[in-house]
Order: sequence, then C-alpha cells, then structure tokens
Amino acid sequence: MKRNFSFYLALFVSKLSILALRLVGRKGTNLPGGCAIFLCRDFLGRMPRPKTVIGITGTNGKTTVANLVEDVLDLCGVPYCCNRTGSNVDTGVASALIASSDWLGRPKKDLAVFELDERSSNLSMPYIKPDLLLCTNIFRDSYKRNAHPEFIVDVLNRYIPDGVKLILNADDLMCASLKPDNPRVYFSIARQPEDGQGSENIVQDVRSCPRCGAALEWDFRRYHHIGRARCPACGFASPQGDYTAAVLEEDRMLVEMGGQAHPFPLADRRLINVYNSLAAVALLREFGLEPEAISQAMAQTGISATRFLEEEANGRKVILHLAKGQNPVACSRAFQNIRDYPGKKAAILFLDDYFDAAHTVENTAWYYDADFEFLADDSVVQIIAAGARHWDVYLRLLMAGVQPERAEHLRDTAQAADLLAPEADAVFILYDVYTIDLANKVKSSVTLDT
Ligand SMILES: [Zn+2]
Repeated sequence: MKRNFSFYLALFVSKLSILALRLVGRKGTNLPGGCAIFLCRDFLGRMPRPKTVIGITGTNGKTTVANLVEDVLDLCGVPYCCNRTGSNVDTGVASALIASSDWLGRPKKDLAVFELDERSSNLSMPYIKPDLLLCTNIFRDSYKRNAHPEFIVDVLNRYIPDGVKLILNADDLMCASLKPDNPRVYFSIARQPEDGQGSENIVQDVRSCPRCGAALEWDFRRYHHIGRARCPACGFASPQGDYTAAVLEEDRMLVEMGGQAHPFPLADRRLINVYNSLAAVALLREFGLEPEAISQAMAQTGISATRFLEEEANGRKVILHLAKGQNPVACSRAFQNIRDYPGKKAAILFLDDYFDAAHTVENTAWYYDADFEFLADDSVVQIIAAGARHWDVYLRLLMAGVQPERAEHLRDTAQAADLLAPEADAVFILYDVYTIDLANKVKSSVTLDT
C-alpha cells in the first residue's frame, strides 16, 4: 500500500503522542497505535515493514512463548522490536512499529516479533504478513470472546496470508490443520510414560476424523484434544514432528531435529510449559539461530514470573498460578497442576473475569466445561473461592465431589487469605491476567501469616 497524506498525518500525530507520553513518564501504552489507526484505518498496511516479521498466536501460551523468544534473542544479541509491553491486537502492533521507526516510518530494526491475538487476526495478519507464524494450540476460550475452536480455525484460515511459513503443534489436530497449502513445520512431544489412553477432561473438541468424519483412534491422549490420533477409515493421522521432544528429564529435553538430537534446558517440566519451550526452540531454529546458541540462552531464562511464581515462606510453598478467567482449558490445566503437586495443597480461586466483575459476572456456563473434578483429590485439603460468583463456584466444587468441609467461599477477595487453614504444605493462588495485583496482595498476606 502506498503512503498517503493521511498515513503521514497519522504517523506524525502518533509520534507526538509518544513524546507527550514520555513527558508525563508513561510508556508502553496502545495510545500511539490507537491514534494512528483512528486517523488512517489501514495504517498497518501502509507502515514500512521490518525485513523479517515473526508472529506468535494460538489460544494458550502465546505470551509465554513470545517472552521466551524475545529473551533468547536479547541474549543472542539480535536486535528486534516487539509488542511485549503493549497489547496483542492491531493497536499494540502499530504502537510497537511506530516506537521503533523514524519520523518517516522507516523501521530502525530489521526484525519484529509480535504476539498476535488469534480472534482479531483479521486486523493484523493481512497487513503485517509475517514471514514465520507460530501457532501454539487452538482451544476453547471464553464463550463471549471466541465461541468455539472451529470458529477460530476459520478466522485464522481466512486471514493468514497464503505463503506464510507456519510452525504448528503436531499434537493438536485443530492447530495442525491450519492453512493446509502453506509451507509448514511441526513440533511434537513424543509419548511419555505418563501419557494414557483416555482423557480425563470434560472438554474434548476433536473426536472425529477431520477428513472423513469417522471416529478417531488415539495412540494416546494427553489432555483435551492434545495427543496423537489416526483414522481407521481413511488413514488420516497426526503429522510427524520436525521438532520432536523425545526425552523429557527434570530440567532438560532432548529435541530431535534434522536427524540429530539436541539438549535444551527446561525451566518447568509440566507439559504445557514443555510445549511452550519446544515451540520457542522450533521458531528460533526456523529463524536461523543455531541449536547451541538457543540452548545456552534458554539456560539463562525462565518461565515469565507473571505466569507462574513459586516462593517459600516458613516451610510453606506459595504459588501464584495464572488461570485465565472464563477459559475452561487454562483452568483445567491449573487444577490438574494443583492435584499433581506433591504434598497437601490449599487453593485460593479468583476466577471472576476482571472486566466482567466491574459490573456483573454474567456467564457461569464455563464452570461446567472446566475440570473442577481434579480438585476433589484427597491431597487438596482446602479450596477457597472468592469473588462476586463465589456461590456458583462453591456449587460447582460440590458437584465435582469436593467435600463441603474443605470448601470455603466469600465475596470479599481481600479477606480470602484469612480463611486459610494451617495444614497445607503449599498454597496455590489462581488469578486472571488482570488480577495480578490482587493475587500479589493475597500472596503477601499468606507469606506473612505463615
Ligand atoms: Zn478419516
């Protein structure tokens, strides 16, 4: 697209807004990009593009993977611009490009790394046309936001440009099926000792063969629709991984690629984070970094502290764990992590969506897609549900088989920690992306109490 008067006006005004924001000591907002797109609707299409653009999308894990990729690039001395401090929608992408350009819009860096919201990819992908696009997975998310996974597959298929090289999860048939004619590589975790035949989860969104509709047979199903399947009727099967984590140890994984196995450090051995690390390795390798350089850099990084934070206070572990509000899959993963964590556990649940909660929390249907059943384990000695919908969460806990004497519930989130019984060895605080301050406050009061 040509650069016209409205583009330059939009660029000029947004640049001024960056200066103004800097004067009042603020940075990393979406305001400059918002201004630019307001003044020039197809601003992103007219903005000069860095030589290489990497996109990272998917339902769960995209922020973790993007942060990891950026940390490795930093440690390897590769300059780039990114939308880490802004949002993952079009205004965040525009803000990052504006901040990293001169007054004519020419990029100051040759590489851009963008986390891209899958739901609104129509506003970003066709304009920025990534060279490499990673999709972590496609799951059910909040009903209000993205309805059901096939809807998201459809949005991505429509708006990912032809020819974009894709890096996809081979163990997720929904993700693996994206844009079948585009060039692609797959990442996969080979069968592990803990992988069983059946899934314990309520939500399982891939049951029949995407090609012929026959019932799939599963070699193993890890959780939800993640696993490896084949169709007895037509021969369709999960694709083979080009990057396969073959062996998982406590703090490292062996990844087979191009006929060789390379070790990479793992900050966290739980499978969701193994997928995140593996996805980052595949993406960075496709970008052109050497396996040894990626491995050395990963040894110096960890899983971002905003996602998972573990602290010890007087012999008791306190763990902040992200569980995105209204996202049944993210919550089910968190509940399973609590069950599988060693020792006696207590959990404080802040599950209300922050923006909804400001007015009213309307939708409780997703509680019945989330596997609260994991919490009905003998090792989970106390569960405290706090927030506007505490009665609904309490009901769901009872229906999941949690014993009433182990479940507490209250409206006032600030008081939740006061109800903690002393017997748990570990306290999990589940929070939404937007309630990190609340979670931190409660964490402080938990650590002071013990
Ligand atoms: Zn089939």
